[in-house]
Amino acid sequence: MRFIDSQERCFHNKKAMIRFFNTLSGRLEVFEPLRPGEVRLYTCGPTVYDYAHIGNFRAYIFEDLLKRFLLYSGYRVFHVMNITDVDDKTIRNSQAQGLTLAEYTQKYINAFFEDIKVLNILPADVYPRATEHIPEMVNLIKILLAKGFAYEKDGSIYYSIARFPSYGQLAKIKPEELKPGARLEADEYEKERAHDFVLWKKRKEGEPFWETELGPGRPGWHIECSAMSMKYLGETFDLHCGGVDNIFPHHENEIAQSEAATGKPFVRYWLHCHHLIVEGEKMSKSKGNFYTLRDLLNRGVDPLALRFLLLSTHYRKTLNFTFEALEQATASLQRLRDFQIEIETRTFPEGYNEEVNQIISLARKEFKEGLSDDLNISLALSAVFSLIRKVNLLLQQGQIKNNDILALKEWLKEIDQVLGVLPPPPKALPEEIMAKIRLRERARQEKNYALADRLRQELLEQGILLEDTREGTRWKIISPKKTFPQ
Ligand SMILES: [Zn+2]
Repeated sequence: MRFIDSQERCFHNKKAMIRFFNTLSGRLEVFEPLRPGEVRLYTCGPTVYDYAHIGNFRAYIFEDLLKRFLLYSGYRVFHVMNITDVDDKTIRNSQAQGLTLAEYTQKYINAFFEDIKVLNILPADVYPRATEHIPEMVNLIKILLAKGFAYEKDGSIYYSIARFPSYGQLAKIKPEELKPGARLEADEYEKERAHDFVLWKKRKEGEPFWETELGPGRPGWHIECSAMSMKYLGETFDLHCGGVDNIFPHHENEIAQSEAATGKPFVRYWLHCHHLIVEGEKMSKSKGNFYTLRDLLNRGVDPLALRFLLLSTHYRKTLNFTFEALEQATASLQRLRDFQIEIETRTFPEGYNEEVNQIISLARKEFKEGLSDDLNISLALSAVFSLIRKVNLLLQQGQIKNNDILALKEWLKEIDQVLGVLPPPPKALPEEIMAKIRLRERARQEKNYALADRLRQELLEQGILLEDTREGTRWKIISPKKTFPQ
């Protein structure tokens, strides 16, 4: 008997070709980590000046899908995500509220960890905080000064983009568009303003500062990520991710800083996810279409349905968030959960059905092939729902046996390692509910239909749907179709 074939379970085959679109080369490339079997991943984390919004979570969920897929493909993944707890915005907001920087940012650091847990995002291995890595940043700036890539002006230290000939390679800026020599103090600016950028900002009255060998001051945003990524992942590592808005200036500057300091390639594959818009428009507080995760949870949104929605658009496409799309995502996810409940809670006759084996093999192959092709989530999800359709048909026809169920449970567990959208499988209903189901069964056998119907209705109100089949009565946990107030 073969219901789980060893060949099919060999999804840990590292030779399977994975391709990603590398922003640096502008092409799809075969993914090969530096060390066989191990991926070192850096993702730009939150700047903790406010609650993270759904655009931020689009990026974090894309990165989570990427990481989970690499784990599923058999790689060990070492993941570092920084916490930017000192920059222009955190300082501005903490001052406005009359709090110290640490008091102010701690609230949003806590909120960030709560939010990613609710969205079932796997935690990183390390969450370095910028304020705890000032010596590493100072050291990196000292190297840049010694090598002539940085210079001091009026107490601040700047990076000289003219000294780094490949500046602009990631953001595809032509050399003639660069404005070397002119200086910028701000952490964020547009491509049209590719100037010398600040590495160390001299102390300003009323701002937090550190006494260092560079003089009193604080780091610029970009040096934070160079120093912290190389500390934990080495001078050259495999993957660096963020949203497209990080490409310039942030990631461009990270490359310039790191490669000038080490003389080595910094990152081998750069992956960026595209923007999230809301109802076809740019999300902004002034338009009233700005949502944090907390805003949506307050409206009764299922966080895993939101996760499902955010991961189901390919990461290199603009994601248009609408409440209608959220309702559809909720319904799709419910189909997956119904299927889970069906196979987890029913009993089936002995035996197996070869057809189920074939359906699983095909779904497994298509799921993996889809994600291997630059995380093509549409192909992967269509493999999942196509299996569900086929198996549901066989379920209706009574052609599913207990060994098929074992294989299906195994498969569901596998795909959810990547998708992360299923709750733990329901083991049993509370005893009072089970007693009510038995009571209704007895009423039906005794042809007391009035009582049977009343109990059926009561159970429905408690979220339990009963289905009378030839093999007896089956139950199903249902969640009502949701509409969201807008
Ligand atoms: Zn960063």
